[in-house]
Amino acid sequence: MTVRLRPTLAALPAYVPGKSVPGSIKLASNENSYGPLPHVLERIAAAAENVNRYPDTNSSELMDALAAKFGIGSDRLVVGCGSVSLCQQLVFATADEGDEVVFGWRSFEAYPIISAIAGATAVKVPLDGQTHDLRAMAAAVTDRTRLVFVCNPNNPTGTAVSGAALLRFLDEVPSDVLVVLDEAYHEFVTDPSVVDGTTLLERYPNVIVLRTFSKAYGLAGLRIGYGIAADPAITMAVRQTQVPFAVTQIAQVAALASLEPAAERQLAERVAEVTAERGRVTAELRNAGYQVPDSEANFVWLTNGPAEAGGIDATAFAAGCAERGLIVRAFADSGVRVTISNPAENDKFVSAAHELRA
Ligand SMILES: *Cc1c(COP(=O)(O)O)cnc(C)c1O
Repeated sequence: MTVRLRPTLAALPAYVPGKSVPGSIKLASNENSYGPLPHVLERIAAAAENVNRYPDTNSSELMDALAAKFGIGSDRLVVGCGSVSLCQQLVFATADEGDEVVFGWRSFEAYPIISAIAGATAVKVPLDGQTHDLRAMAAAVTDRTRLVFVCNPNNPTGTAVSGAALLRFLDEVPSDVLVVLDEAYHEFVTDPSVVDGTTLLERYPNVIVLRTFSKAYGLAGLRIGYGIAADPAITMAVRQTQVPFAVTQIAQVAALASLEPAAERQLAERVAEVTAERGRVTAELRNAGYQVPDSEANFVWLTNGPAEAGGIDATAFAAGCAERGLIVRAFADSGVRVTISNPAENDKFVSAAHELRA
């Protein structure tokens, strides 16, 4: 006899983390290639001296700093153990068994897993090319829909929806359906037609915007992210579904240190390097004959398809990269996602891509 588990688990797709291979360059998890800023590292070390104590379960100091940054009351904010955790809490807070969670596909691979664990029905709306089809997503909303994820820019395709398209979508979605704008890559957006979700909250109180310290802020290993909503009922619901003490003091302290003006400036320089490199890598890949959608994130996307049309075979392409010491993220049925790193690592990827095309 073995223990009786929920049948849902047997059918659950596995979350596939980007591989780490010693000696290889990892371009598989959209991490920041730079280590923490020196003063952030110092605060982490100092906070480590108190790990015999539980953390501040309300992340009060960090909440105050974020409230000041966004010019809002801290009741509109919630801090979580990574924004993935916030995604999960939002589904737990809204969806009962059989309720529907709508998202584009392909998008962030955590969404179907989270939905299934909650017992909700995942409704996957195919992308239009490589971009969210917001009209189709709005049309997919039924009276069973409790939550819609809009990953903007989208992971793994890197594309972003325009502000105009997003506003039209938000006007169409019923105001009692929660819309989660997952803006994990917001800091990398350079297209002025893409709207900052936090500017829409007053107008759409059924929206929560999620941000993370994992990507632009380079703190992926510490697990910390946050959400902002206009309606405190939403942030309260997220708090209710939080595991007690889920956000460590070390993570809180590091995030707080990263929000200091000097740190923000240094991090913005790193982000600017990444966005410049994204343009360079995209151009190089297109020169080599690959079809690459415009990315607004810190990664680029190569699509499965016939080579004549600029496509790749994801599994073969990733294997070719691995032989050259580069770990990229393959989605066997759709394409390969490659993180933009520093210029030296990007150069290695670009030459591998040229070789794989030859
Ligand atoms: C990386 C990522 C996150 C952030 O995850 P954390 O849990 O904050 O590390 C959230 N959403 C998407 C789409 C991501 O790609």
